[in-house]
Amino acid sequence: MSTLEQRYHAVQQRIDSACQSAGRQRAEVALLAVSKTKPATMVRDCYQLGQRAFGENYLQDAMDKISQLADLDDIQWHFIGHLQSNKSKTVAEHFHWLETLDRIKLARRLNEQRPQTLPPLNVLLQVNISQEVQKSGVAPADVAELAAHIAELPRLTLRGLMCIPEATDNADALATQFDHMQTLLAQLQPQHPSADTLSMGMSGDLELAIAHGSHQVRVGTDIFGARSKAD
Ligand SMILES: *Cc1c(COP(=O)(O)O)cnc(C)c1O
Repeated sequence: MSTLEQRYHAVQQRIDSACQSAGRQRAEVALLAVSKTKPATMVRDCYQLGQRAFGENYLQDAMDKISQLADLDDIQWHFIGHLQSNKSKTVAEHFHWLETLDRIKLARRLNEQRPQTLPPLNVLLQVNISQEVQKSGVAPADVAELAAHIAELPRLTLRGLMCIPEATDNADALATQFDHMQTLLAQLQPQHPSADTLSMGMSGDLELAIAHGSHQVRVGTDIFGARSKAD
């Protein structure tokens, strides 16, 4: 049985090697530790190892941890799950980033609900890069229009794009989708210089995502162990 510390260092090592193979600086790629369904004690242990950014998918689960870890004042919470409009206030008030913004109505609500006492909420547009009908995310063709609307909202900062690619082991298919994301970000940057982040790559495909331009890999299983709930 490996410990959290061993697994955490192994993931950091994988990111180091992937950056080296891709000829990229290690500082270009951030690690988001995806702690969904895992207890606050594990998040605290991971924080003690130096990790600061944590990703959560379920609001109630996240809020329990956020309150239990309120003493860690430089911890950063990223909401990476599907967000229903009627729950937007909780994210606006308690998170640093929302990575799954995919519609203007939700953006407007978050902009109104973000407290003036906090800096603007960092947002990533979730792109349905595999164009699967059942998947959430903005279509690639609609990214520019949604970004233009968000740029008008002072309480949100557009930080870039995120995707969950097709569930496949086919590296060529994944690489094509990651490359498409890179192109979309490059098209956005002239008008939106704050958009500096591509969030892509998880436990199984972080090396490929880093080779194809990722700035943030979202790793759950390989740090915290398998989850009991399937998602
Ligand atoms: C669960 C989840 C992850 C982490 O996936 P692992 O395979 O456990 O590393 C990354 N991104 C999103 C959006 C997730 O929901």
